[in-house]
Amino acid sequence: MYNKEIETLPLDKLRKLQNERLTNLVERVYTKVPFYKKQFDEAGLKTSDIKGVLDLHKIPFTKKTDLRDNYPFDMFAVPMDDVVRIHASSGTTGRPTVVGYNSHDLGVFDEVVARSLVAGGATSKMKMHNAYGYGLFTGGLGIHSGATKLGMAVVPISGGMTERQLMLLQDFQPEVICCTPSYAQTLGEEMQKRGITHDDINLKYAILGAEPWTEAIRTQVEGLLNVTATNIYGLSEIIGPGVSQEDYEEKGTGSYIWEDHFYPEIVDRDTGEPLPYGKEGVLVFTTLTKEALPIMRYWTNDICSIDYDSGAKRTHIKMSSIKGRSDDMLIIRGVNLFHTQVEALLEGMEHLAPCYQLIVTREGTMDRVKLNIEITKELQDNIDGDLANNDTIKNLTGKLSKKIKDNIGLSMKVELMACDTIPRSAGGKLSRIVDCRELG
Ligand code: ADP
Repeated sequence: MYNKEIETLPLDKLRKLQNERLTNLVERVYTKVPFYKKQFDEAGLKTSDIKGVLDLHKIPFTKKTDLRDNYPFDMFAVPMDDVVRIHASSGTTGRPTVVGYNSHDLGVFDEVVARSLVAGGATSKMKMHNAYGYGLFTGGLGIHSGATKLGMAVVPISGGMTERQLMLLQDFQPEVICCTPSYAQTLGEEMQKRGITHDDINLKYAILGAEPWTEAIRTQVEGLLNVTATNIYGLSEIIGPGVSQEDYEEKGTGSYIWEDHFYPEIVDRDTGEPLPYGKEGVLVFTTLTKEALPIMRYWTNDICSIDYDSGAKRTHIKMSSIKGRSDDMLIIRGVNLFHTQVEALLEGMEHLAPCYQLIVTREGTMDRVKLNIEITKELQDNIDGDLANNDTIKNLTGKLSKKIKDNIGLSMKVELMACDTIPRSAGGKLSRIVDCRELG
């Protein structure tokens, strides 16, 4: 274990620590973040009403839209002078969700990632092939910095360029790989195609996350890469990867939530009422120690259950794998995508009707998105013959694909369609998303 004292802290002591941290947090957010002062005042809540985690249910939720409404920095609880890093992830429209860290927060981030890596099987003596994307996403830098803290030799390869990744896996002989489960599948399959065998690499542990995956994917990746694969979970609003992690000797029993830093609740997706341990609902987190962007009761939209595991090595609560989302966020190759982001890009583009559908499929291990969008009646009336061979249509298609790639960072096939050709449901409703992927 990376921090045995904390990771095995008896529950009564853990609760005491959480309660102290929570009361301190409540004072801080009330005095430093106008959003929380307003939220408390409107709910008729005084900071003294929150004496511990059992009072948390009195506090309203914070949602992704609240971060967007306070874009970019109005949720920060420290002056910008104190902030040392800013990350961002996709929001529901063009605007990303912005998160900030001061040095104390980066210390917490390193600590929870280091704990996670050790739980996943890594040690300071090993080399880590970090194929999470570096950049605005928290994945790459977050894992990198925690692995450095642990004392690993980190190879910051980032995502993509599979050929190069395969070369370095053979030449550098890293014992640990971190990436999305789908990229681990891709690497494994590409290895097979090229005749690279288990003897050519030295991987032992794969720590995989940033998107939902299943036991079937685990079995496949473990076979392809000759590793023990564990789950790492996180979200930028709470800190990034390392909010929870599965232990390599307790696979399939859930991922430990580092609850001395992130207090979890499961609530009913419709009523918001807290649910008992073991029941599935929306996962909600309160960041007990973060300073630059403390968050109270963050509604993650991720559906899972939480429970203590008395037979486990650590005392912290475990969460099940993520069963789905309570909003319509898609995760495509580890990138968050809301259909509203695409919709926002349609504004100001001539000849396109607001009738569109995103079709998500999985080809092999790769998620693909296709945008079907109808043209306006006016344009259609001016076109003779086949849409596919028309120059205006071809131009428009190219323009829209490029706009999507430039703004969202995802390549997707775009098809312009005749009016009223995208199927509507019986009530005339057009589903914005058709997800045909079958996990596993
Ligand atoms: P990241 O940049 O690490 O993807 P984001 O904040 O952009 O972080 O996205 C976080 C979301 O990604 C989570 O709310 C969850 O839906 C999904 N996610 C992250 N890790 C996992 C995981 N291990 N299993 C399932 N979903 C995950």
